Amino acid sequence: MTRPSQPLCRGCGQSINGYYLSALGAAWHPEHFVCATCHQPINNTQVNVREGKPYHTQCYRDRFDPRCAYCHKPITTQYYTHNGASYHLECYQEHIGPRCQYCHKPILGQYYTHEGAFYHSECYRDHVVPRCAYCGKPLMSEYLVDHWGTKYCKEHQGQYPTCAFCGRLVPPQQQDPQSSEHVRCPICRASAVESLPQARAIFQGLMQQLNAQGLQFNNIPLQIELVDRARLAQLLNGRSGVDALGVTTHSTHMLNGQVVRTEVNGIAVLRGLPSTLFRGVCVHELGHAWLTLQGIRGLPSWAEEGFCESCLSYWKLLRHIAEELADGTTMMQA
Ligand SMILES: [Zn+2]
Ligand SMILES: [Zn+2]
Ligand SMILES: [Zn+2]
Ligand SMILES: [Zn+2]
Ligand SMILES: [Zn+2]
Ligand SMILES: [Zn+2]
Ligand SMILES: [Zn+2]
Repeated sequence: MTRPSQPLCRGCGQSINGYYLSALGAAWHPEHFVCATCHQPINNTQVNVREGKPYHTQCYRDRFDPRCAYCHKPITTQYYTHNGASYHLECYQEHIGPRCQYCHKPILGQYYTHEGAFYHSECYRDHVVPRCAYCGKPLMSEYLVDHWGTKYCKEHQGQYPTCAFCGRLVPPQQQDPQSSEHVRCPICRASAVESLPQARAIFQGLMQQLNAQGLQFNNIPLQIELVDRARLAQLLNGRSGVDALGVTTHSTHMLNGQVVRTEVNGIAVLRGLPSTLFRGVCVHELGHAWLTLQGIRGLPSWAEEGFCESCLSYWKLLRHIAEELADGTTMMQA
């Protein structure tokens, strides 16, 4: 018997006797109100509906919740999207996301990139970023690099004086307390020629090298002298400009107001020059000494200076070649 008041089940279309469910605007036999995924009855109060179809909560999640592109399990809580894919936060951090090149741990949030690698801000600041050679601060933004690769804060330029010999900045703590004549950096100071024995040893070595290259000094005992600026100016006697660092010393023999003989005594070089510069000045001055010993006089000064500079260039070239050979092979002794 079917009474007109009896509702029809939306699932099977038959009339319902007894209990029925009311859902999605219709009545259902409890056993006919089934999940669109697993086709089992949904008999609790939790129904998930999508496009008019009912689902168990779990079946709904399995079917419609986003899945992690790494572990393929559904994502139900917070997740992370990257290149259009979704990830569990943990899956992303552990397997997909950037890792710090320094500590190798995953990076969450802010990071730094440097030469194609990622870093935690702190790892970058404390371990990667170069530090100012003068004040030690991490160089996080713009900084300067000198000719020798020294990196430093921009503000030190103009704040510190430069080394009179090499041009490096010299911060106050590196300045030479003894030297008032010129600002000298610690590197130039370390190799400075300050004592006569030191100067003599270098000078003798240079004479031998030049002798070997054909600049003969006829075994005349040339002297090396280290002088201060005042004495040097006196010896220069107005010649060669104020910046000259060395001078060839002569004694002139006069007779009745006429020069009868000029003898080369040796050379005088400003005390405290870095050894590279000291050598250069010596070689240049030995060029002058050689001309005098050869009796070559009266050259225009551009010719004489040009000759001395050529000696220096030639000597530098030879030394450079010797260094290269010494680096690469054991075949030659400089
Ligand atoms: Zn039914
Ligand atoms: Zn189901
Ligand atoms: Zn996952
Ligand atoms: Zn790190
Ligand atoms: Zn600095
Ligand atoms: Zn210097
Ligand atoms: Zn000269």
